Amino acid sequence: MPKRPTFAQVHRRSLDDKEAFWSEQAELIHWEKPFKTVCDYRNPPFANWFVGGKTNLCYNAVDRHAEKHPKRKALIWVSTEVDKEVVYTFAELQSEVQRMAAILKSLGVKKGDRVLVYMPMVPEAVFAMLACTRIGALHSVVFGGFASVSLASRIDDAQPSVIVSADAGSRGGKVVPYKGLLDEAIRLAVHKPEKVLMVNRGLAPMPMEPGRDVDYATLHQRFADATVPVTWVDSTHPSYTLYTSGTTGKPKGVQRDTGGYAVALAASMKHIFLGKPGETYFSTSDIGWVVGHSYIVYGPLLAGMATILYEGLPTRPDAAIWWSLVEKYKVTSMFSAPTAVRVLKKQDPSALKKHDLSSLRALFLAGEPLDEPTSAWIAEALGRPIIDNYWQTETGWPILSLCNGLQKQDSRIGSPGKPVYGYDVKLLDESSGEELTQPNQKGVVAIEGPLPPGCMQTVWRDDARFVKTYWSSIPGRQVYSTFDWGIRDEDGYYFILGRTDDVINVAGHRLGTREIEESISSHPAVAEVAVVGVADQLKGQVAMAFAVLKDASKAASTADALKLEGEIMKLVDGQLGAVARPARVRFVSVLPKTRSGKLLRRAIQAVCEQRDPGDLTTIEDPSALQQIKDLVGAG
Ligand code: AMP
Repeated sequence: MPKRPTFAQVHRRSLDDKEAFWSEQAELIHWEKPFKTVCDYRNPPFANWFVGGKTNLCYNAVDRHAEKHPKRKALIWVSTEVDKEVVYTFAELQSEVQRMAAILKSLGVKKGDRVLVYMPMVPEAVFAMLACTRIGALHSVVFGGFASVSLASRIDDAQPSVIVSADAGSRGGKVVPYKGLLDEAIRLAVHKPEKVLMVNRGLAPMPMEPGRDVDYATLHQRFADATVPVTWVDSTHPSYTLYTSGTTGKPKGVQRDTGGYAVALAASMKHIFLGKPGETYFSTSDIGWVVGHSYIVYGPLLAGMATILYEGLPTRPDAAIWWSLVEKYKVTSMFSAPTAVRVLKKQDPSALKKHDLSSLRALFLAGEPLDEPTSAWIAEALGRPIIDNYWQTETGWPILSLCNGLQKQDSRIGSPGKPVYGYDVKLLDESSGEELTQPNQKGVVAIEGPLPPGCMQTVWRDDARFVKTYWSSIPGRQVYSTFDWGIRDEDGYYFILGRTDDVINVAGHRLGTREIEESISSHPAVAEVAVVGVADQLKGQVAMAFAVLKDASKAASTADALKLEGEIMKLVDGQLGAVARPARVRFVSVLPKTRSGKLLRRAIQAVCEQRDPGDLTTIEDPSALQQIKDLVGAG
């Protein structure tokens, strides 16, 4: 018998013989017209995958399963917020998506147009995403927890012709109105959408703007039996944009293709996430994040699986809710974030033992470093493998993980695993750009081009920014930077050590400190502010702000300082959303800077985490750091 290749050999082949490797994976999806070229990389760093092929993401996720297995469960909506559970079969999902597609078309949406989706975790959000890709329009989902200023900047960048939204979401039983924030965002934005499609959940007042706002229920009725044929698009046709934070305040629109993304996700469902058609997948993320796009909506559906869309907290009505869903729907793969596990850990540990979790093959965790106590606790409590995976909005699917569907690999505590097939991962020296080949050397995690299928094509409408931001940060070479520090041990396992840039990770949510600084600076009392990410036991990191006031007397007494701190937090809530709210806003008379005026963020962060701030020879005013030390020491 021929010897089975090792994982290292499979990985090598995926890089050395891309054509053969990815042609095989491409068989996992339907091609209306076969592709001619697997990868066109004549114009690096822009990679075009499956060139010449025509396909459709919605057809692959919905229609092809509806044709063969119309009665199979496709979308399971569970809301512990409004106490509802609705199951859509593939046939029902196909019909809902067509109705939504007909509605969008009636509102003038055409191939290539953008549709911004600002929605809570309701089925209509998924219908809208799939309806867009069905007709070749691009969706741009904005996380429902973001507020008007964040939303306005995304409206201006995406320039949607239509926005789909709802009256409100709900969190912990409390209604979170959306419409006011949306109206304010549209008022702030320069670009105005032609139509706003509003889903009325009956949770909050929903004043309609005549001529612009339209009611979903009315149109849903009107297009009851609508059929909307799939628009076959080129493999390279963009399927969506999704905004993510970076070093500058302006969020970047990550643009994804169609064919490469469909193939990459279908392959990852098989090789990484161990999913099989007819089974159930449960990702606890939100559709506003990349995990929601890839592993609530597209990945599971592409694999012919049912996917659970969960609206609610992990702890309500009690800490057993997720596990009761695993039992009820026989979930085989589950995907969550370490923060959620840490939240559950604080609750009654017997909750997990109450349910039959025997269907579950593995729990996948991603989004932030998985610490050892959290990993050990959940592994023990579940009695199932815990599989870490490391990736980014930009890549759309895992860079590092275990590919147990291809070949069983042992996990290593604290490590998300090894480079996944298709990714040529390198550790590079930040200043020389040289590759670090010895074990346990710390370097920047980088990926040699071309990025594999499914990764970002470019920054939406800004190719130059794509090249400048991602491919030009390492001296002397054109290589993709993840902006994460990492090390690799002697057996090839990687460990992620945090970001190299000003991005922080709060409870698995990626936030740019500059965005938060801009928001705080818009308070009339604030002259200058520095925001840093500080280690936190529960959330991984929290944002800490240090502000200099125009008039220091405004925070002279403790009572005044607390009042102002509350005002600033409210301002951030209103502009960016509560996710971006700093844990504390403290007032100082001066910020620590170098003599050339550069903010010493890493030193501030070190002091907040009670670490050594390192080399301070260039600091202009040492008392600035002392003030922060005193504040932190005083609690
Ligand atoms: P996002 O684009 O929101 O998915 O955030 C991506 C960033 O989250 C990465 O660049 C890492 O800094 C961090 N991250 C994601 N997954 C992991 C993981 N498994 N371990 C450590 N850090 C992670």
